[in-house]
Amino acid sequence: MKVLVINAGSSSLKYQLIDMETEKAIAKGGCERIGLDKSLLTHKANGKVIEIQKDMPDHTTAIKLVLDALINEEYGAIKSMDEIDAVGHRVVHSAEDFKSSVVITDEVIKTCIANTELAPLHQPANVTGITACKEVMPNTPMVAVFDTAFHSTMPEKAYVYGIPYDMYTKYKIRRYGFHGTSHRYVSDEAAKYLGKDKKDLKIVTLHLGNGSSITAVDGGKSVDTSMSFTPLGGVPMGTRAGDLDPAISEFMAKKLGVSLEEVGTILNKQSGVKGISGVSSDFRGLSAASKQGNHRAELALQIFAYSCKKYIGAYACAMGGLDCIVFTAGIGENDAAMRERIFSDLEFLGVEVDREQNKVRVDGVNEISTKDSKVKVLVIPTNEELVIARDTAELVG
Ligand code: ADP
Repeated sequence: MKVLVINAGSSSLKYQLIDMETEKAIAKGGCERIGLDKSLLTHKANGKVIEIQKDMPDHTTAIKLVLDALINEEYGAIKSMDEIDAVGHRVVHSAEDFKSSVVITDEVIKTCIANTELAPLHQPANVTGITACKEVMPNTPMVAVFDTAFHSTMPEKAYVYGIPYDMYTKYKIRRYGFHGTSHRYVSDEAAKYLGKDKKDLKIVTLHLGNGSSITAVDGGKSVDTSMSFTPLGGVPMGTRAGDLDPAISEFMAKKLGVSLEEVGTILNKQSGVKGISGVSSDFRGLSAASKQGNHRAELALQIFAYSCKKYIGAYACAMGGLDCIVFTAGIGENDAAMRERIFSDLEFLGVEVDREQNKVRVDGVNEISTKDSKVKVLVIPTNEELVIARDTAELVG
């Protein structure tokens, strides 16, 4: 069985064609600048990387180009479109409507559209990806895999905010959490690696990338997570502020003489480590600047690490114990120095890390805790596309 995984953004579309027998991508790539000038498709298959510059006025054109590339005689991966058995779509928000992945029907699309107000930056693009695919491949079954679904197991005490309760019942204002496919994948992989039943494990997963979130996974279920009503909450990120005193928005609006929407843009795009440092949202740039003595770059790194550390402590308490910490995503997988800042001084929790092993790069799982460490510390490359493909294969199977 072959599953095409689609992750559609507002002007981009990433894809992977996964052969479910091997669970490996036989082709992958992405379209950039859809709806803008100089649109570009980058396609990788059979050891070749092809760049195709062609106008992509909309997502339907982009999908058509992707399918053409997939069946191209020279650099394709399949002979005809019929070899694609199903399509799995990443969708950001399920609200409380879906607790797991679902086969896409017209009703599902309607519900996704209705939930657009909860994720106005991402959900419309996800839906466009689905409708564009349906137009081009009307007879291929499709599945929606939601970023929020893994967190649907959170208890009420973790997701209801301290505001009037009817804000929740009337307007759906609650903690949802994001990056669910990644937290689910790495926590499952951790249990497999440790040879334990996930029901017996209390894990804190740290997905640290451009967007970062931290999740408490107790018995295989998400019981709390740092991102919140939107992906703006939690730890400070590349450009997003993370948790703030809610009074700050109004105060900033008054001081700057701007609308709350404009403050929202500042909190999403000009804050986080970029806003603190004034240097970069990229952790490589921050490390370099910090090494050259830039105080604000160093401060941004310290604030990020401190915030992650506090979540580990909070979630160990929330779960009443801790067996394993997992680092994943761009920073979690690659930035050994940031990992060291985060796991340092956690010996009182039973966390002992081999600092040399932390610097080693391995294929697959890297166990960086010492043999005797009570809490296992693992670096696990995330694979959200594989989770989407697995769910899709299972549902249409
Ligand atoms: P996204 O959230 O967009 O999926 P990623 O998970 O790819 O992001 O993470 C991107 C971030 O990972 C970059 O902003 C960069 O700060 C960080 N990163 C990637 N590679 C390294 C590295 N070798 N060292 C330090 N940071 C890295």
